Amino acid sequence: MSENRKKWSKTELKNIWVDYIENKIWKLNFNEDELDNSWNLNSEAPCPYQNKCLQKQNDAGKMLRCQYQGNQNGDYKWSVDHIDGNPKNNNINNLWPMHPDCNKHKN
Ligand SMILES: [Zn+2]
Repeated sequence: MSENRKKWSKTELKNIWVDYIENKIWKLNFNEDELDNSWNLNSEAPCPYQNKCLQKQNDAGKMLRCQYQGNQNGDYKWSVDHIDGNPKNNNINNLWPMHPDCNKHKN
């Protein structure tokens, strides 16, 4: 089914990533020391689907900042997930990066 998906600008994608690594990720159930020490959050981050992440066994659910919108090859791509499930709620507080497969699985 084709969905009426918003086309995100590079600036929006950057803002979504930065807000995730600066704010939202710290409120999730990740180990803070591990986030601090094991991840370069500016360029990579674990998927917010956490233990349910379909790629959790694969590099701890890594997403790469540079691989957005699901257009690119590889396991580290991400798309924009609406946290509350409402695709019309594009407030930054409702958005974060997530693997496309996890996004589909969640909804
Ligand atoms: Zn995931």
